[in-house]
Amino acid sequence: MALTQLPSPAASPAAAYEGILRRQSSRESAARTYARSLPIVPVRARGLTIEGADGRRYLDCLSGAGSLALGHNHPVVLEAIRSVLDSGAPLHVLDLATPVKDAFTEELFATLPRELAASGRIQFCSPAGTDAVEAAFKLVRTATGRDGLLAFTGAYHGMTEGALAASGGGSGARVTRLPYPQDYRCPFGVGGQEGARLAARLTESLLDDPKSGVRRPAGMIVEPVQGEGGVLPAPEGWLRRMRELTAARSIPLIADEVQTGVGRTGAFWAVGHSGVEPDVMVLSKAIGGSLPLAAIVYRDALDAWQPGDHAGTFRGNQLAMAAGAATLRYVRENGLAGRAATLGRRMLERLGALAEAYDCIGEVRGAGLMIGIEFVEPERGAGACEVLGGGGAPVTGAGLPAGTGRVPGAGGPLPASPARAAAVQQECLRRGLIVELGGRHSCVVRLLPPLTITDEQAEAVLDRLADAVAAACRPGARIPGIPTPSTPKEAGAASPA
Ligand code: PLP
Repeated sequence: MALTQLPSPAASPAAAYEGILRRQSSRESAARTYARSLPIVPVRARGLTIEGADGRRYLDCLSGAGSLALGHNHPVVLEAIRSVLDSGAPLHVLDLATPVKDAFTEELFATLPRELAASGRIQFCSPAGTDAVEAAFKLVRTATGRDGLLAFTGAYHGMTEGALAASGGGSGARVTRLPYPQDYRCPFGVGGQEGARLAARLTESLLDDPKSGVRRPAGMIVEPVQGEGGVLPAPEGWLRRMRELTAARSIPLIADEVQTGVGRTGAFWAVGHSGVEPDVMVLSKAIGGSLPLAAIVYRDALDAWQPGDHAGTFRGNQLAMAAGAATLRYVRENGLAGRAATLGRRMLERLGALAEAYDCIGEVRGAGLMIGIEFVEPERGAGACEVLGGGGAPVTGAGLPAGTGRVPGAGGPLPASPARAAAVQQECLRRGLIVELGGRHSCVVRLLPPLTITDEQAEAVLDRLADAVAAACRPGARIPGIPTPSTPKEAGAASPA
């Protein structure tokens, strides 16, 4: 490890590393997030692997919160960035036309759902997903002359005021939150297709009941797979029903593909699983090939904006557009969405076996290489635990037969276990594996590996994860806040693959 890369001279690598972490915690805001649970100092990275200033190597299944479709520093991305730098092209161009932007837009439109590809428009935004979400809201409000928005429980759309309100934070005055279907914690207690049907029925009733208190909204925003909400793939039939309900009432449907886009879920865009054609798509993260970029694409008919209605100084990030175009092209040409679908299914199968072995795993689910493992506390719900333990493979996800989800019995789902999920995350880190936490109670361990991950690397990830679960769920494991340790259902069942 080259110490010359570190900002200040220090007596030893360990001291330099400690100093950086100490300075970070004393200077950066209390709002910092990943830095708290992942106290590492990355100095070098390639593909799935990050090397820390402490000399340790980690398998990175956080991937910049799902931004790194090709992993770290992929050669095609580096080459694209270098070619812009070497060309003498301006790096800052506001929203002027450039060959780099033109190439990015062409490449992006080649991947879009049919109707948007044919006649969509694009607005480049300030380079964060949340600004693109704000732009989408502003667009549909301008186009419809209406104000309110429909969003879903468990949604995450960003941290600016409007996006936060749609995510259940902030004032939320203009947002109606509707149930997002899920099996394990189904709001109707039934899960499966019936749970999805009831969720759609409630939405329809709220829209049509003149006394529901829900006025006709400017738009509906939905994640085709909820990411931060705990990796919840929308049932395809339910999403199609949302499309029918909104289309019949002239309500623009906004698909937030910030996290699900660019092959992540096993389709190039996650709406591709259901064939839904949204009116607006919100794009960020992977479209910038690891650099900041955000945009919305939308039906031409919605373009009621006046010049300057949505603006921003940094809408023309040339390096991100070059890196993004290279990424989109690589994912498309190498069929990486299909690869994510196949590998994701295999990984879910192996995780299903792990869930069978540990009653502290409530459910595993996912779509492509967007995978979640929900940790629960069987210690605090023995009755329900028995029902869960007797079920079939506790796996839900895109591409799986309908109704294979684990639907808890009369006892309902077991209590969420953020403490156990955090313990698993720490055990993973100890074993050189970086994973993300998410879900309603931060009880879901999330895997977002790059789409370029090899079969061997995927096995290594699952080996380390299984080992970490064994450590965090072993008899006698001390997890803060959990009364009695969980036990594996079968002795020695830590690595069931
Ligand atoms: N929408 C979704 C679905 C996201 O997952 C995120 C971030 O995780 C955002 C919007 C916000 O993006 P950003 O963090 O770039 O503002």
